[in-house]
Amino acid sequence: ELIRHADTAMCFAKERGRNSLIFFSKELQEQVNAKKKIAEQLRGAMEKEEFILHYQPIISTRGNEIIGVEALLRWHNDLLGDLAPDVFIPIAEEIGLITKIGDWVLTQACKQNKAWQQQGYPGIVMSINLSFMELGLTNYAATVSSSLSDSQLDPQYLELEFTENTLMKDAKQSMVQLRQLNALGVSLALDDFGTGYSSMKYLSKLKLNKLKIDGSFIKNLPSSAIDIMTTRAIIALAKQLKLQITAEGVETAAQCEFIETCHIDAMQGYHFSRPINAEKFTRLLQAPTWQ
Ligand code: C2E
Ligand code: MG
Ligand code: MG
Repeated sequence: ELIRHADTAMCFAKERGRNSLIFFSKELQEQVNAKKKIAEQLRGAMEKEEFILHYQPIISTRGNEIIGVEALLRWHNDLLGDLAPDVFIPIAEEIGLITKIGDWVLTQACKQNKAWQQQGYPGIVMSINLSFMELGLTNYAATVSSSLSDSQLDPQYLELEFTENTLMKDAKQSMVQLRQLNALGVSLALDDFGTGYSSMKYLSKLKLNKLKIDGSFIKNLPSSAIDIMTTRAIIALAKQLKLQITAEGVETAAQCEFIETCHIDAMQGYHFSRPINAEKFTRLLQAPTWQ
């Protein structure tokens, strides 16, 4: 038992980046058990069709209309209930399931976007989130390419989002991957910008199209002087790099008004809509609630 507990503590220490010291505790054991339970259920989730995608609109600052949509993964499990992606995605990465789940997300999102176009709605860009594991796959561009041709979605209507940390996990491989993805004609966006570790050297060399300013900077606008400064600095950087800019986590009319003065291209957040299922999103396409 002592050795088993020591092993548990060692695993945690390794997760923290190895060079750390962790003491075993009851709480630690509970965390391990909870994670094991999630991992167990996650393995069968795909076959049981427990995943669905929710969609959140991305709105143009100029026209106030829907120009894009972000697909966000939702998981309902009979035993565990609803779990947030922040909870189960790291576990899916750990047990090597994320690429299978990611392929499903990619396929569904492409199909759904094509379906909206076939129903006669104006073309919008569908964004999906990538895990570092997908970006690390040597054949990922081929996967995207076949999803596009299977769904007959034009590449200009697909966008791939990844975070700074995802990119910097293996910066050299990311460069190769992004070049291949860029050649397909899909759009590439840096998600949660400002919260991770970036290399300015790589940032300027990557074939990015868009930068999404993390919601934590938007949260205290327009009252926080420091967040105004940071947001403006990010905008200046993005403009110099000729990137489009989306503000994430826009929740209030005041934030919205402030953003309009900043020359940001697009906004996303609860102020417009929470992520919703495909059926509700279709209704939003027919009649946006904020117009
Ligand atoms: P993200 O890509 O940055 O997605 C935005 C998150 O912010 C979503 O959380 C969304 O529901 C939330 N959000 C949107 N507007 C607002 C707002 O006004 N206020 C606040 N407080 N939050 C807002 P969600 O759906 O829980 O997803 C969390 C993260 O999980 C995502 O962050 C993304 O990194 C990851 N994720 C979601 N779906 C997938 C997926 O299919 N694959 C991968 N690899 N990751 C995913
Ligand atoms: Mg995202
Ligand atoms: Mg984000």
